[in-house]
Amino acid sequence: MEFKKLANYFQKIENASSRLDMTNILAELFAEADAKEIGKIIYLSQGELSAAYVGLESGMGESLIAEGVAKANGYSKEDVEKGYKDLGDLGLVAEKLAGNKKQRALFSSKLDVEKVFANFYKIANVEGGGSQQLKIKLFAELLNSASPVEAKFIARIPAGNMRLGIGDPTIMDAFAINLSDELRKNKKVIVELESELKEKKEEKRKTELDRKIKFRVRAMIEEKYNIHSDLGEIASILKGKGLKGLENVEITPGIPIRPTLAERLESTEKIVEKIGKCLVEAKYDGFRFQVHKKGEEVTIFSRQSENMTHMFPEIVEGAKKQINSKSAIIEGEALALDEHTGQYFPFQVTIQRKRKYDIDEKAKEFPLKLFAFDVMMVDGKNLMDTAFEKRRAALKKLIKKGDVIELTDGIVSDNPKEIDEYFETSIEKGLEGIIAKDLKAKYIAGARKFAWIKLKRSYKGELSDSVDVVIVGYFKGRGKRVQFGLGGLLTAVYDEDEDKFKSIAKVGTGISEDKMVELEKMLSKISSSKKPARVDSGIEPDIWVEPKYVIEVRADEITRSPTHTAGKKNDEGYALRFPRMISDRTKKPEEATSVKEILKMYKMQKHVQVED
Ligand code: ATP
Repeated sequence: MEFKKLANYFQKIENASSRLDMTNILAELFAEADAKEIGKIIYLSQGELSAAYVGLESGMGESLIAEGVAKANGYSKEDVEKGYKDLGDLGLVAEKLAGNKKQRALFSSKLDVEKVFANFYKIANVEGGGSQQLKIKLFAELLNSASPVEAKFIARIPAGNMRLGIGDPTIMDAFAINLSDELRKNKKVIVELESELKEKKEEKRKTELDRKIKFRVRAMIEEKYNIHSDLGEIASILKGKGLKGLENVEITPGIPIRPTLAERLESTEKIVEKIGKCLVEAKYDGFRFQVHKKGEEVTIFSRQSENMTHMFPEIVEGAKKQINSKSAIIEGEALALDEHTGQYFPFQVTIQRKRKYDIDEKAKEFPLKLFAFDVMMVDGKNLMDTAFEKRRAALKKLIKKGDVIELTDGIVSDNPKEIDEYFETSIEKGLEGIIAKDLKAKYIAGARKFAWIKLKRSYKGELSDSVDVVIVGYFKGRGKRVQFGLGGLLTAVYDEDEDKFKSIAKVGTGISEDKMVELEKMLSKISSSKKPARVDSGIEPDIWVEPKYVIEVRADEITRSPTHTAGKKNDEGYALRFPRMISDRTKKPEEATSVKEILKMYKMQKHVQVED
């Protein structure tokens, strides 16, 4: 595909004002792409050069990008930097200058997706002396041949920010539109879906059937994406072989599985009522690791499926020694342990291990232990559909005794009193609380279901849990805060059903002056001149931003609200009362707290109040 065509599609998506429009434009784009280029198109549309877990980055900061834009158009770097100050986006600067080139390149050629991707791939992989100049050269080469609209998107790629707001669910929905006709040919499925519609009125059946087919296709795609988190690869399979191709997508060591997530319940009675006899484990406060072993090769993925292997050499060594099989995928929580006292260090200590430099030094100072709690694959055998009870037994057999990996502590019980006692001892030991696990449950990739239920210490007078919200806009400060350019944040939670971000709170407290400056710097780079298509808010901030950053907030309670749109029904949504920022969270926006969780937390809180 010519890059110009792709850039025009990106432009349409940028102009789209609704999530539905965005999905339809993407579906059109995917229909035009071929199997070889579709993966690249998907990575580029999300500002990536590979699947997120590979983490391939251009290694070009703003300064190099500015130099490239200047070079390609015959301007000085200062000219570009001035333009950046005025427009706030190097993409817009590149677009403007490409329309007013001071110097034309001797050679210019038509750009296609393959060429653009190939240059960025090289840019990401060059190393050593002279690599910066080579990066600029490869980048400027593309800009030389680019029309203004192409230049705009090419210049946004190296910073990894396309300002399009395309999330994984939108991509999967677009494919569901395109592949519905394939499923429609499957008589067995259609008979099954039609039988579910018997009660519906005749005239409604056709639209309902269409909806159900699309839904089914979407579920088929997501099921595979959950065990093989590379949408680019899934997309090229879909383009090449259609839905049938999905049958061969399997869990693979080296490719992350999307993690299972925990529900919340407010008491041990409720937990037992819900899942009966369960394995109750301590909830450790550290990093969640998915450890993949394939021969002597060990890979560690974070909860966000990022490759973190190089940061934790002791876990790699431990996995090689203690995992007693040729290949395996296990999961656990890693944290630093104070060897002198036998106590766990707080998260603030463990988090110091997330670093780019002085890795070995810090590994010696605060070595991590991995508390393993699940296993999804052993020697090629997929255990995800095996009951947890059996997976746990397999895990016990798999892990040899050693210094680095041990199994999580836990008790099997259906007695709320006994579980309460276990909860209290865990808290005394400095742990976060407990997680109760359904003994019969499968490993549910990528979803929050009642296979796991967490119970944390309740903070009196406050919500018992913090909420992870996405920043969707900010307010310029008033009074003293004018100097920071930011006085508060408009935040939202994620509505999974609609794939939208719905406003829940204005957050103005808990942000230090330094943090305000830092946030303003980060957010101004992702500002948007209009409300982003996937944002739904009753409040208009001074500046909209693309949903990208997630922060953790604590609040006194959840209240009904006529202004906020989270969970809105009959003119009333939900809001956080007295929200304050606690910390940054390195989650994807789609992994923030969901509207469904807010509704559950609202009900739980009412229950707690009644009891008090
Ligand atoms: P939280 O902020 O409460 O950790 P979260 O959104 O990161 O929530 P959840 O799925 O809701 O994640 O809670 C489960 C998390 O608890 C896991 O992601 C994992 O990091 C952590 N954890 C600690 N101990 C355990 C354990 N024994 N079993 C499973 N998960 C555990």
